[in-house]
Amino acid sequence: MKDIQDCIFCKIIAHELPAKRILENPSVLVIEDIAPKAPIHYLIIPKKHISMVAHLQPDDGAAVQAVFYAAQELGKQLSGSQAYRLIINNGKDAGQSVFHLHCHFIANKIMSDF
Ligand code: AMP
Ligand code: ZN
Repeated sequence: MKDIQDCIFCKIIAHELPAKRILENPSVLVIEDIAPKAPIHYLIIPKKHISMVAHLQPDDGAAVQAVFYAAQELGKQLSGSQAYRLIINNGKDAGQSVFHLHCHFIANKIMSDF
């Protein structure tokens, strides 16, 4: 598991690595996934380094809330049905590959095909 100094999402947040930035506020950054699985595939990343859902602490509540409000904001910007899917992988065996908590925002795809 990567630690905070070695974390690609912390580096993107700090502008040390490039990314297509979609939305940003003091609590979260939303970027385009580098390998999109749908026409719209964003990553909602809390700026606070939290490695995974299993490591959430009671004082992470504001960061978690900010993730869901960012999803709501992204949803409002969708045209059409405004349907979207949110996915959070917890742990390597569930497909987590970046150990900085993030929520996949997936839209404009027939979800039953996902
Ligand atoms: P997960 O497998 O749930 O940990 O999701 C990690 C996601 O991050 C994958 O969908 C990757 O395609 C994406 N990803 C990895 N590196 C980057 C990067 N530098 N910029 C944008 N997305 C990335
Ligand atoms: Zn990080």
